[in-house]
Amino acid sequence: MDADKLIITVAPTGSYPSRELTPYVPLTPEEIAKEVYKSYEAGAAIAHVHVRDSEGKPSNSVKLFKEVYDRIREKCDIIIQFSSSSGAPLTGASDEARLAPIIKVKPEMASLNVASMNFGDRVFLNPPAMVERFARAMLEAGVKPEVECYDMGHIGIAVKLIRKGLLKPPFRFSLVLGVEGGIPPTLKNLLHMVEALPENCNWQVIGIGRYQFPLSTVAMILGGHVRVGMEDNIYLAKGILAKSNAELVVKAIRIAKELGREVATPSDARRMLGLRG
Ligand code: ZN
Repeated sequence: MDADKLIITVAPTGSYPSRELTPYVPLTPEEIAKEVYKSYEAGAAIAHVHVRDSEGKPSNSVKLFKEVYDRIREKCDIIIQFSSSSGAPLTGASDEARLAPIIKVKPEMASLNVASMNFGDRVFLNPPAMVERFARAMLEAGVKPEVECYDMGHIGIAVKLIRKGLLKPPFRFSLVLGVEGGIPPTLKNLLHMVEALPENCNWQVIGIGRYQFPLSTVAMILGGHVRVGMEDNIYLAKGILAKSNAELVVKAIRIAKELGREVATPSDARRMLGLRG
């Protein structure tokens, strides 16, 4: 049954990991596409994509997003999801800049941040009018939003978007635990968030840093889905850097097998999430 299959998302780059933190984080379009393909071969169904400029800084360049998109598509049918934050807490990018790659390249999915918050020592600004505008733009472009919830109250904001008809079922939620400024990464908090989710909801957990695998394991047991990758965690085990994002995918699959969860292919995930393909 599809419903039992585990959807693994790989987030290879993000906005924060630098070459100083780990020499293995992919930064150029070529490196990102290569890592996504390796992760796809390992068993990832979705790739959550950020791009970096030539200095390695977060970027909203449509050209770079398109290049990564095309390079991945040349090699495999993994579901491509663009970030709509694209380093906004670091860069202070405008709404237009954040939305442009999504409405121009039209990936199958995009992340949708529904609330403003302190994000480490920065502010991540997502005012209500902007959130609705992003949700409407994704709906019109046929891009499936993945709602990112960094705290309990964010789920309530998403429910309001559902009531307004701005999100369509099946809903896709990420429960992000462990960002400084968001909900702390405890088991109790994860259970509390899962219980607050709306009906008809496909959810994944994003555990930050060393919480990536403990929380992913709990999500697998609860019937949820998982995201791994260097955006959220650069270590394969304590003190051991992951040499590739694919290693993190392989580890997730090893745990899933022990728990009896079959892994979803991109086609399985498309059916489960109602994607256009
Ligand atoms: Zn991201």
